[in-house]
Amino acid sequence: MILHCLTCKALVDAKQIAEDTRETTDMDFPEATYDGTLLRTYIQYTFLKCPKCFNPFLTKRVYSNDDSCLYDIFLTLYPISPKAINSEINIYIKKSFEEALLCFDTSAYTACVILCRKTIEGICKEYNIEKGNLSKKLIELKNQGVIDDNLYDWADALRIAGNDAAHDLDVTFSRKDAQDIIDFTYAIIDYIFTYRKKFQLFKKRKDKK
Ligand SMILES: [Zn+2]
Repeated sequence: MILHCLTCKALVDAKQIAEDTRETTDMDFPEATYDGTLLRTYIQYTFLKCPKCFNPFLTKRVYSNDDSCLYDIFLTLYPISPKAINSEINIYIKKSFEEALLCFDTSAYTACVILCRKTIEGICKEYNIEKGNLSKKLIELKNQGVIDDNLYDWADALRIAGNDAAHDLDVTFSRKDAQDIIDFTYAIIDYIFTYRKKFQLFKKRKDKK
């Protein structure tokens, strides 16, 4: 399994040592099927070690049958970097952001900025916002109420939404630029997938009473 080793500051092919799988019940879709087969819902914990520094990893994978299709949530429970994403988030968004952090660690700042943009594009895709450039997509995120005015203004001030500089071969980004966009990307993930989700769950519970 390819994981980000914080000690080696690299993506490593971590070696699996043990695995535990436990069945769960999806209360929202207990009987979801796909092509006539009942979809299982289960959680898988995997214990691994880095092939270079031998430090351990513990990961959690959630297989659920939301929206009648197999949905994969992946979390690294240990080790956790200061900017680790702890919220339950789609795997490709998490991967883009982890690669962005890795690029920052290895001073590849332009690549870091491009990967942060890719992460934000991934978030837009989660809300079926796929048309137009990043600028239009961020406006749509704001219009749909997924992000608030403060986050939108932050994106605007960073000019990540303003142009497609990341696609221009002549443009390079500094360490400061990369740090700014990492901070923003982390904030938008945290806002949508932790703060906003918790608030929605709270409202749901409250409405049921
Ligand atoms: Zn390592």
